Amino acid sequence: MRLGILFASLAALLHFPVTESGAQGREEDFATQRARMAAEIDAMARETRAETGREHFSAAVMAAMAKVPRHQFVPLEQVRNAYRNSPLPIGHGQTISQPYIVALSTELAELRPEHVVLEIGTGSGYQAAVLAGIVRQVYSIELLEPLGLEAAERLARLGYKNVEVRIGDGYQGWPERAPFDAIVVTAAAPSTPPALIAQLKVGGKLVIPVGAMQEVQELLVVTKRADGGTQTRKILPVRFVPLVPGR
Ligand code: SAH
Repeated sequence: MRLGILFASLAALLHFPVTESGAQGREEDFATQRARMAAEIDAMARETRAETGREHFSAAVMAAMAKVPRHQFVPLEQVRNAYRNSPLPIGHGQTISQPYIVALSTELAELRPEHVVLEIGTGSGYQAAVLAGIVRQVYSIELLEPLGLEAAERLARLGYKNVEVRIGDGYQGWPERAPFDAIVVTAAAPSTPPALIAQLKVGGKLVIPVGAMQEVQELLVVTKRADGGTQTRKILPVRFVPLVPGR
């Protein structure tokens, strides 16, 4: 940030077009912050390897984290904090998740380029953008209309053509677009919603925080078996905003 300001004032002195060079300086600054954030995620991945079974996240996940402009997904007053490895408020009592958790959830979904993925809880659209950088198509459901509309607009403006956002109740999934190769839930449910298991392909992963609302939850990876049953692995204690029961 300081470099950006210095550059802008120097530009003013020399009668350069300040806005353009200033904006470019800021973008460079954001790219530097993003690289630092990716390094912090990598360090945290190493610290949590015993729980997650992964020393590093995949190159595809790390590339997506290093690319998506998180500062475009937070309110103006949070832009200076955009690349901190922490959750941030996005209005309507909701939060954009901690970058490490976004990376971990994405990693645990075991994505491939041809995959079609469902996200529950669009929020700012950040997790959807990270997924969209890795897979063919992302569908995302948001309960709160203003948040969902804003996220859809933002994703379109930033050029994400493979994300579709719908206003609705995530507990029901998106039957018209099912089955999904993976489902990533970014709000905490008291238990695994049966509709989401039903809409998952065999072998597909459902990544979901489960536990009592307002308390620490457990991040789970649920794999759908060929016989329709599931196998569940507990990963880490996490804290998400609640998946509110829809109407
Ligand atoms: N993935 C988001 C952050 C999610 S915060 C991001 O990257 O910014 C959780 C979101 O889930 C909130 O926006 C909240 O409104 C939404 N939500 C809560 N209950 C829901 C439900 N039943 N169906 C769909 N979305 C829900």
